[in-house]
Amino acid sequence: MTILRVAVDAPLDTLFDYLAPDSGAPPAPGTRVRVPFGRRRPVGLVMAQTETSTLPEDRLKPVLEVLDEAPLFDDTLLRLLRWTASYYHEPPGQVVAAALPAALRQGKAPPPPPSRVSVRGPAPEAMKKRAPKQAALLDLLAAGPRRSDDPGLPPGWRASAARLAERGLLEIEPEPAEAAWTAAIAGPPLNAAQAEAARAVTASLGRFSTRLLFGVTGSGKTEVYLSAAAECLRRGLQVLVLVPEIGLTPQLVQRFAARLAAPVAVLHSGLSAGQRLAAWADAQSGRAAVVIGTRSAAFAPLARPGLIIVDEEHDPSLRQHEGLRYSGRDLAVMRAKLSQLPVLLGSATPSLETLRHAREGQYALSRLPDRPGGSVQPRISLVDLRRHAAVEGLSVPLLEAMERHLDADGQVLLFLNRRGYAPALFCSSCGWVAECRHCDARYTWHRRAVRLRCHHCGDETALPAACPDCGADLRPAGEGTERLEDALARRFPGVAIARVDRDSTRRRGAVAEILDGVREGRTRVLVGTQMMAKGHDFPGVTLVGIVNADQGLFGTDFRAGERLAQTLVQVAGRAGRADRPGEVLVQTSYPEHPLLQRLLEGGYEAFAEATLEERRAAGWPPYSHLALLRAEATDPQLALRFLADCRGALSLPAGVTALGPAPAPMERRGGRWRAQLLLQAAARPALHSALDALQAAASGLPGHRAVRHFVEVDPQDLF
Ligand code: ADP
Ligand code: ZN
Ligand code: ZN
Repeated sequence: MTILRVAVDAPLDTLFDYLAPDSGAPPAPGTRVRVPFGRRRPVGLVMAQTETSTLPEDRLKPVLEVLDEAPLFDDTLLRLLRWTASYYHEPPGQVVAAALPAALRQGKAPPPPPSRVSVRGPAPEAMKKRAPKQAALLDLLAAGPRRSDDPGLPPGWRASAARLAERGLLEIEPEPAEAAWTAAIAGPPLNAAQAEAARAVTASLGRFSTRLLFGVTGSGKTEVYLSAAAECLRRGLQVLVLVPEIGLTPQLVQRFAARLAAPVAVLHSGLSAGQRLAAWADAQSGRAAVVIGTRSAAFAPLARPGLIIVDEEHDPSLRQHEGLRYSGRDLAVMRAKLSQLPVLLGSATPSLETLRHAREGQYALSRLPDRPGGSVQPRISLVDLRRHAAVEGLSVPLLEAMERHLDADGQVLLFLNRRGYAPALFCSSCGWVAECRHCDARYTWHRRAVRLRCHHCGDETALPAACPDCGADLRPAGEGTERLEDALARRFPGVAIARVDRDSTRRRGAVAEILDGVREGRTRVLVGTQMMAKGHDFPGVTLVGIVNADQGLFGTDFRAGERLAQTLVQVAGRAGRADRPGEVLVQTSYPEHPLLQRLLEGGYEAFAEATLEERRAAGWPPYSHLALLRAEATDPQLALRFLADCRGALSLPAGVTALGPAPAPMERRGGRWRAQLLLQAAARPALHSALDALQAAASGLPGHRAVRHFVEVDPQDLF
């Protein structure tokens, strides 16, 4: 009798035992099965087969249905799923649910492999009147065979094809699987540093190694990815590329597809369920040579994996912040280890975790110190806002620089990480401030939409005509991208200005339009948030202005400085990419701040070295490991009391320190009061056993149903 250990999507930290069906071979691990589960009949994934169960035999139920003929996940990927569940302290069924496309989660079958449709020749004249649809299909295919999943085939073509096939005029055959791809790549000849990096990566194919590709912005990291990928494809091995956000970097996908001339599958959350399933199936069957995706693509099965690339490895978007909270980058490294593959982490501003590994030799290091073709790094200088007061965000030195660059036919990029018109609205007479009714936060005034919006919970409300307390006029305080755009339009009439932020890009295709406008030179000034800091190439931009660096200088989080440095360097890197040297102006009220001084004098690396020393001295990551137990409840005090009880019920293992519980820095958010307990340890095993004990204590407490609580391992910010 075979017992199946099945992962079921339920908030329980266990696998569930079922009997294999009587007939046929028991389904192998990695196969989906439908199981009885309370009143539901969910789809689960077989994780293992065993002979024994902790349940008595007569209580074991048989699976209802086996959904796949062959496993969807191989052994390595099953081990990755198990590792993820234990590392992030998440129920295995919920990890599996995060790894499966929705259609597969609901029990649909993966699409059959596409076939090849070919014809003998164009339609005979006689057919054109009698059967115009069939004739059109023949004429289309006379130009060359097509794959059955080709979107260029007319709707309903299958019916015509069937009739043509009966008459022997059309053939449908299985698409032959590629053993390898020619990967014709015609790019610029690599410079010495690029060639050496690509050589090191290809030399390590077939075994596990992690390599950091540390290259200044515009140094040609993508060319190294392409060169290593091409070699991989020639050997018939697939390449997995993780990127922070695909919507923002459509060029990267195009560049891979065009240069490698091999099938590329794209996986991200913006796809329809059907598109996602098709891309997933292409990855799994080995039809896709390259799979490019966001963080969850770290779970995409590959028939013949050869290399994993993580682009912009420092980027916080590689981390999932809701539900299963995981780092796509860390999963990629673990996956490479389990599959014995090389993984390449690329960045101009590597995270301090990765830099520490590179410094201590766990990760290999390749550097690209220069930009190819002699284009030089931009010159960065500070504008002291105490001497040059900014009006609506713009100081005189910044405005003058803009004039100079626009006159010289350059383009200008202004970075402000705050959307909306103004981050606060206050009464000029009594000091009343518009505050979110659900959060400890102010509403942002969105002037175009004539609304107040909370950026923390999404709440919206009408704009009050006057102060609700005293009736005096309301005034904006501070500026967001909308206000900056307005101020610029007044200051530079006739100059084409565009804005890129989450508000201006809600419409599909809007990002691409705005970015094309900049690249093609139609837009002269671009105002934007974080969205434009990500890997875009704007050859005509010669001036970058950082409107306000001060938010990041005094952030409450220990990572605030690291984030600010990364953003400044990434945004600055958009300038002067072509033959014209760039200039970067950073507006700040704290020009003598050590972070800015280090960045200016020694660049990102000097900043990182100094910050690593500070982290070591203070015992913060990467020199210790953190986990948070977060709790939230609709009653004040409840979450805090709950965590205090957890803490009280726990005897901490040696080497683990607990800090708190304390109210979260934003205590009330979305109508819930939030609290957190921070665990810190020098060694991971101790941290994980403390978390196990803490979770056990939490679910044993009487109050635990009224409190939503969850663990976050390696939290990226402590808010
Ligand atoms: P990164 O990924 O580091 O930002 P890219 O690979 O996008 O850099 O390269 C930046 C620019 O330099 C691109 O326009 C690219 O075509 C060009 N480039 C990269 N490598 C070379 C090279 N060896 N010779 C000439 N141009 C290059
Ligand atoms: Zn008032
Ligand atoms: Zn709110």
